[in-house]
Amino acid sequence: MPHVMISSKKCTGCHMCELACSAWHEGAYRPSVARLFSEVNPTTAAIKGHTCLQTACAKCQEACPEDAIERHEIEVRAYGLEPAKGYVLVVNEDKCNDCGACYPVCPYGVIHEHPDRKVAFKCDLCGGEPQCVAFCQNPHVLAVEVRLSKADRAFAGAVS
Ligand code: SF4
Ligand code: SF4
Repeated sequence: MPHVMISSKKCTGCHMCELACSAWHEGAYRPSVARLFSEVNPTTAAIKGHTCLQTACAKCQEACPEDAIERHEIEVRAYGLEPAKGYVLVVNEDKCNDCGACYPVCPYGVIHEHPDRKVAFKCDLCGGEPQCVAFCQNPHVLAVEVRLSKADRAFAGAVS
């Protein structure tokens, strides 16, 4: 279950990850459609990262009546980590009808209606090379945790 995680202790709130995310997925520096975000408390400056836990959560997938959120095999490559195999949850835009069932169930607020395409959008780990990690100003600020479940380990063994 590889997934991206923002460290609230190390993140400086520069929002570079959101710019990198939107640039890669949308072709524009547009944080409003980034698939992760760093929430900075205006009073305390405390940081709260919002990222998708992928198959370790899967509440959106369970809620979708159209089976539009699919489990895809993936190999993740990121700074400081050995390549890791696992699964990621990806929205199939051809199947999504924007019914909205998945939006309120996400515990981290990271699946939404796309303002232009009118379908759900969420983190897909950029096909295996998360751009948020690649473009974090300090590579030690934003951490990608790669933990493998039993099922993922079996999968990694089967394809390696
Ligand atoms: S908005 Fe799309 S992905 Fe979300 S539950 Fe509805 S059909 Fe599924
Ligand atoms: S988008 Fe939200 S509900 Fe879906 S797997 Fe990620 S964290 Fe869970």
